[in-house]
Order: sequence, then structure tokens, then C-alpha cells
Amino acid sequence: MTRRNYATVNPCVMCQPMGSALAFKGIENTIVLYHGSQGCSTYMRLHLAHHFREPVDIGSSALSERGAVYGGRENLKKGLRNVINRYSPKVIGVATTCLAETIGDDVPAIIREFKEEEGIGDDPEKDIIIVPVSTPSYGESHVSGYIKAVNAVVRKFTEKPEDEDKTEGTEEKSPGMKEAPEMKKATNGKINLIPVESLSPADVRELKEILAEMVGDYTFLPDISETFDAPLKEDLPKIASGGTSLSDIADMPNSRASLALGVVSKNLAVEYLEACHGVPGHNVPIPIGLSNTDRFFTELVRSLGCPIPEKYQKERGRLLDSMVDVHKYLYGVKAAVYGDPDTVFSLVTFMLELGMEPVLVATGSKSRDFEERIRLLFGEIRPELVPTVLDDIDFDTLNDMVKKCKPEILIGNSNGRYIAKAEDIPLVRVGLPIHDRVGAQRILTVGYRGAMELLDRVTNAILEATDTFTAPVQPESVADADRVPKVL
Ligand code: SF4
Repeated sequence: MTRRNYATVNPCVMCQPMGSALAFKGIENTIVLYHGSQGCSTYMRLHLAHHFREPVDIGSSALSERGAVYGGRENLKKGLRNVINRYSPKVIGVATTCLAETIGDDVPAIIREFKEEEGIGDDPEKDIIIVPVSTPSYGESHVSGYIKAVNAVVRKFTEKPEDEDKTEGTEEKSPGMKEAPEMKKATNGKINLIPVESLSPADVRELKEILAEMVGDYTFLPDISETFDAPLKEDLPKIASGGTSLSDIADMPNSRASLALGVVSKNLAVEYLEACHGVPGHNVPIPIGLSNTDRFFTELVRSLGCPIPEKYQKERGRLLDSMVDVHKYLYGVKAAVYGDPDTVFSLVTFMLELGMEPVLVATGSKSRDFEERIRLLFGEIRPELVPTVLDDIDFDTLNDMVKKCKPEILIGNSNGRYIAKAEDIPLVRVGLPIHDRVGAQRILTVGYRGAMELLDRVTNAILEATDTFTAPVQPESVADADRVPKVL
């Protein structure tokens, strides 16, 4: 195995503050402000805009040399005033970038000072709520930035004063809290659904449709289904409409259960809701593929005691039929799967169900649990296969490992296209970012329908690459008809 420790060459992850933007953008009337240098905000806006094909406004405190030396207090306050005047938001998510963290600005203290100066209180009904989140990119990736931002929002809108002592330092202490939470009676009958970072707006729409049919009332946080895939209007709002409503977030402690989508990354918000508000939390994999979608429905049935609607039973049957149809093309095909940890986990589950052989399984995120989870998965489904499993990799390492493992297909984000081209193997684009094709916001991978769409894309890529064609030739014209072999 080639592992380079001296430098990262083409990272396989994105900046930590970018993950926070993915979360904040799924909340009603929210604007993001990066405390740091201007280039960070420009790069991340472009990155997201190229993927979602939507305008993405992100403010910046535009730290210069002076701010880097004397501190960014005044820049941050000025940035806050500017976004308030320009966008009139209800919430401002303030995420730090590398520079602000390196100079050690105390962002929560600066925000407190700013609110006092401007007379801003803490009442979501009439005040602007400012949510700080610490996201230095040299620490972690967009995956953790997203998790921290969702957690910070949930805490901001639901925290009781006594919770502060229990879960201060959130990301480290919350998962370890073992005190039995006080289980309370559900009062609103809702389910909270909090996914990991890599769903598309189409995925969110599909999951919301399932929830609406099975649960009726639910809170999906963050909801990017419209904010990152908005209908064209004549008067473009300054902040895209949609997103999870603030009243729904404030009501999350009253739900009957929380469902965390993703089993590799921690879901701090779900853990917090359980530890401090007694809302039982359950983790299920992202519902990509047959068994993961089955688990998602099973968990809903268990939490709600309601039957699975016939529509989804039929969709499941169609997926099974499609799997049988393509088995001859996919069985034994060697694949390399890479991307965000939970997306890769669910994709690999599906590849194994299809009879494929994921020989290389990789993520750019640092993850203590990733390898163990993947090996357990192989042990359950195909114990005879021994894949190469890597976390914290860059594309340079991925390139070396693709040469070594010799997959016949790549499945991951569009940054793997150079490897696919060099090795002359197809790439099926899944995850984030997808910059070299249109339609990333409409790619559906979750649920039985998403599985069928993914299965078609993978199979057709294999057929295209291998020039396999076993169906009877269809005549396109009378002249062609003469060339079609006659059935006697
Ligand atoms: S790595 Fe740090 S400095 Fe560079 S764009 Fe990301 S947040 Fe900004």
C-alpha cells in the first residue's frame, strides 16, 4: 500500500466550513457568514454553486493582514452588520475558517458583544439568532463541519440552561454521556429525521415523501430540497425559500423519536436530543440499496407501529426484479467505491447485494470506525472477499490503489474522473461534488426508486464499457428489419 505522509495531493474531502454551509442552507431564512479570509468564502460558494447549479450567497468577514495580526473582532462585527442589512435573515450561521482559528478569535464572545451593542436578544420570534460553529479546516473535513453545524442549531433552539453543564464541548462529551435520560411522553407525535451530509435535494424530496405517507408529521433537518434546488421565479428572493422551519426545530425535543441517517459518522444532534430531552435516537444506514432501505422502513414501522404503504411494497418488488435482470452483467464486477464515509458504507452494501466485488473502499475523511464497519459488512454479506479499505486518503493515494486493485468501475464523486480516464474505466458519479456533469441536484439514490436508478446507471456504464449487448436487435426501419435474424 502506498501511503504518503509528507503532503496531501488532491484532497478527497472538502473544507470543514463548507460542511457547515450545507447544514445552514437547509434552515429557513438563514445566511452563512465565514469568519476568515475572503478567498475561503469565494471558493466554497463556487464549489457549491457548481454542484447544485444554484446561486449560493455566503458572507465573509474578509480578514486581511491587519485582522490576522490584531484579531478579527471588528471585521466580524462589520460582516454581521452587513449581512443583516442586506439579507434580513432570521438566523446567521457563523463558521470559522483556518485563519480565524489560527489567530484564536473568541467568536462566541465577539457575538455576545455584538448582540449587546446592537440590542439583539435571544427570542427567535423577534430577534436574529446567531449560531457560531468552530470549523478549522486543518482539523477535520466537510463531514464534521456539517455534523457540528446541525448540532449547534439544534442546541441553540432547544437548549435548556441546565444542559450547558451536561454537554459543553458537544462533539466530544455528548456521545459519551451514559446517564439514563429522563424519558418523557411524546407530545407532538412527530419523528425527527437528521441525515448525514451527502444527500441530494432529490434524495431529501424522496425521503420527505416517504415520511409524509407513513408518519404524516415530521421534522427533516436540514431540508435542502428547495434551498439547493429552487424553482425559477421572476423575483429571486435574497435567501432561497424553503428549509426547515425554526418553529419545527424548536419543537424537536417533543418528538416521539429521532432517526439518524448514517451509522459511521456520529450524529451529535440526535445524541443531544436523546441525552438532554429524552427523545429516543436510532441510527440506520443511508437507505441506499435493498437492505438499507428495508432497515429504514423497518425502523419507521417499529417507531410508529404503522404498515408500509402498498406503493413502497410494489417499488421493492420492482427493485428485486431489476436486480434479477442485471445480475448477469454485474456479478463479479470489481468496483472501487470512494467518498463520504456513510455514503460509501451504503453504496458498498448495495454493491455486495448485487453480487459485485468492491475491491477498493475508501474515504478521504478521518474515521476511526470506517474500516471496522466496512469489514463487518463484508463479513456479514461476502466473508470470502477481502477488500482494501482506506480512510484519510487523497486522490493521489486513490490513484495508486486503483492501479493496484484494478477495479472495472469507479463509483464516487466527479473528482475521480482523471483516474477513470487514465485507467480507461467508467465512473458512476455519486455524492458531492459533481462538477463535470449537470443534474447533481436531481440524482436520486435513496429508497427503492433511488436504488433502481443507481442500478441502471451502474449497469449501463458497465455495458457501455464492455460493449456487452445480449438483447435481441430491434429493427429501426424496414431496411433494418431485413437484417434481423428471423425466429423460426
Ligand atoms: S482550507 Fe482553510 S484557508 Fe483554505 S479554503 Fe478551506 S477554510 Fe479557507
